[in-house]
Amino acid sequence: ARRPMMAANWKMNKLVREAEEYMARLLPRVEDSAEEVDVGVFAPFTCLKEVARMAETSRVIAGAQNFYPEDSGAYTGEVSAPMLKDVGAEAVIVGHSERRELFCETDGLVARKTARAIDSGLLPVVCVGETKEERDAGEMWDKVSGQVREVLERLGDISGGELVFAYEPIWAIGTGDVASPEDAQDAIGRIRELIAGIKGREAADAVRILYGGSIKPDNIEDIMAQPDVDGGLVGGASLEVDSFVALVEAAR
Ligand code: 13P
Repeated sequence: ARRPMMAANWKMNKLVREAEEYMARLLPRVEDSAEEVDVGVFAPFTCLKEVARMAETSRVIAGAQNFYPEDSGAYTGEVSAPMLKDVGAEAVIVGHSERRELFCETDGLVARKTARAIDSGLLPVVCVGETKEERDAGEMWDKVSGQVREVLERLGDISGGELVFAYEPIWAIGTGDVASPEDAQDAIGRIRELIAGIKGREAADAVRILYGGSIKPDNIEDIMAQPDVDGGLVGGASLEVDSFVALVEAAR
């Protein structure tokens, strides 16, 4: 069985002091759950070092929200995989819809980043998902399968679960409009079958697929109950320790 994962995406929130206070309160409260669930905290670059340092003696995984897929060089403003590893990060979010939409990240760049993360020893959490317009036009699967396919075609063997996907329908992000458990299962089940078709059944059984978009303590149980949903990627409800702890516990 796949190990569940509950991941906090802080987005552009928390100063160093706030991050330290959060981690100091979070770590003792998820110590038991972290035996059964991968607990991830995806922090801004500016507090990642402190988050990773505090997480080091726990099972909590510190991650970044982005990186650039070259190791060093003339890329003003960018941060590389070796730099993330240098400060203790073990994972990285790749291709979040906010990066695709606001910072023009293409499917090709997302695929390159995913491959580079794996080669660098970082666990990529690769985000895919459709807009409201695409869903209403019946194009959900066209969009999502295209995003997933482009990533998979870049990769070698992934039967060790070398990456994680997160299905995050854009219309559900930050809107309170959570996907129904059936819609989450439908998209995630289809992503798993696509992985099976391209990379084989062993890979499809190993790769974890999370749901993201308006997850809250009061809707997580029904989503986690779906057979192909392996956990959650959480924005707003991860910013407070109490609600994130409740979500971690629901993933056990
Ligand atoms: P919300 O949980 O705030 O809807 O954000 C979801 C998300 O984008 C996580 O990456």
